[in-house]
Amino acid sequence: MLLTISTTHQPATDLGYLLHKNPARLQAVDIAYGQAHVFYPEASATRCTAALLLDIDTVALVRNHRGPAGEGFALEQYVNDRPYVASSFLSTALVKAFNTAMNGTCKDRPDLPETLLPLEATVAALPAASAEQLRRLFAPLGYEVETDAHPLDPTVPAWGDSRYYTLRLRHVACRLRDLLTHLYVLVPVLDNDKHYWIGPAEAEKLLHRGAEWLPQHPDREFITRRYLRFAEYVNPTLKRLLTADEAATDDMQGAVPLAAETAAADDQTTGAEQALTGSDKEPTAEKQKLHDLRLARVAEEIRRVGAKRVLDLGCGEGKLVRRLLQQPQIEHVLGMDVSYQELVRAQERLHVAEMPPRQRERLTLVQGSLLYHDPRLAGYDAAAVVEVIEHLDEGRLAAFEQVLFARARPGVVFLTTPNATYNQKFEKLSAGQFRHSDHRFEWTEAQFSAWAAEVAARHGYQVRVEPLGPEDAQVGAPSQMAVFEMIG
Ligand code: SAH
Repeated sequence: MLLTISTTHQPATDLGYLLHKNPARLQAVDIAYGQAHVFYPEASATRCTAALLLDIDTVALVRNHRGPAGEGFALEQYVNDRPYVASSFLSTALVKAFNTAMNGTCKDRPDLPETLLPLEATVAALPAASAEQLRRLFAPLGYEVETDAHPLDPTVPAWGDSRYYTLRLRHVACRLRDLLTHLYVLVPVLDNDKHYWIGPAEAEKLLHRGAEWLPQHPDREFITRRYLRFAEYVNPTLKRLLTADEAATDDMQGAVPLAAETAAADDQTTGAEQALTGSDKEPTAEKQKLHDLRLARVAEEIRRVGAKRVLDLGCGEGKLVRRLLQQPQIEHVLGMDVSYQELVRAQERLHVAEMPPRQRERLTLVQGSLLYHDPRLAGYDAAAVVEVIEHLDEGRLAAFEQVLFARARPGVVFLTTPNATYNQKFEKLSAGQFRHSDHRFEWTEAQFSAWAAEVAARHGYQVRVEPLGPEDAQVGAPSQMAVFEMIG
């Protein structure tokens, strides 16, 4: 079993730092039932490739009663595909050989783990139901997927292809640890054989390793079931994953529960803003109106400043993007969201596939997180961040601040967030509760203004904070907007 990882990032030998493995040395680590060898077939400044070669000992597997049950032919315990194919053993080897890289640490070069690199990975002999299955699992994570099928027997073409593929993944800008984590979870999912290590701890590992991307993956249920095959932990794990996904969708979007199990929780979380209307007859329409108002206001502000290149960060299903595309002065809109599902929804709602080419060129939709430096965000006149920051952990706001105000540095930023004081208007919300289950915090006007003033001062912007939405005499408006303008 061979996995190779290449980069053309400059200098390419940074890969050695990231993997914590010196390109000049051949190294081996012991894993259960075999060894993993790490070596570099190429290591120049322009291109570097690291290889992980697995050597599985089938005899050791049999001794430990972990080999295939042998219900097939006499020697099946010894003669099987385990030594040759990418399986759960690869995952075991990845954490053993590249533990530091998977955890995103790099002592010598602390900036490297967060850097988005051009990466290529090849997995030789990966079992899969079809090439389409490989595409379905990896493409949503941003990879260009290429597969080579292998005939069952080249001398007997009539037998057709085997279930083994060579998989090549290419990503233009990906953190190495994300690539490793995707392989860690998805390779055992594809290998339909028994995994030798499933237990409650594995459910936790899946939640841990998949936390950032699995909830948004369109095939998350399949992935979770396969990963935890035969395990009774599937349901609770699935439930936690699905709840996390639901949490990633906005309070305004009337999230459809993804499984019966999550329906009850969903009712509770969407109820709060419904109470706002006073009439429960058309609560969704009312919520929508409020949200439309917010978006109309932000779009109008962007028109007023005459921005030509605009970012919509945390764009969701693209409601603001639609309004922005209607403004003729805008030359380009880049919508970014961490949720692949939201982006698919945006593509559908905006009818991207049917857009005339001129219009199509004005829009880019990308998957990305606002917590990681992303060179694609540089060079814009304006950025909208509408009802997004409250979905970020308060402790990660400093990272968000770096990404937007230190690195991307748009000329003007329109950033909105709920006004916590207004929550008194929501009858169903008891004191101290947030409007939506995924809100990590909600700020009063004083808190928001203080944060905005500090951010502005640190990065050379001036800022003003305004109420957003119809104002109540006692508690103010439901939302608030900070307008940051770069000085000079
Ligand atoms: N701005 C949109 C959607 C707001 S809902 C609108 O007003 O309609 C919040 C959005 O932020 C969701 O789509 C969610 O997927 C996205 N989001 C949450 N965390 C994010 C992160 N770290 N990076 C980018 N987007 C994120």
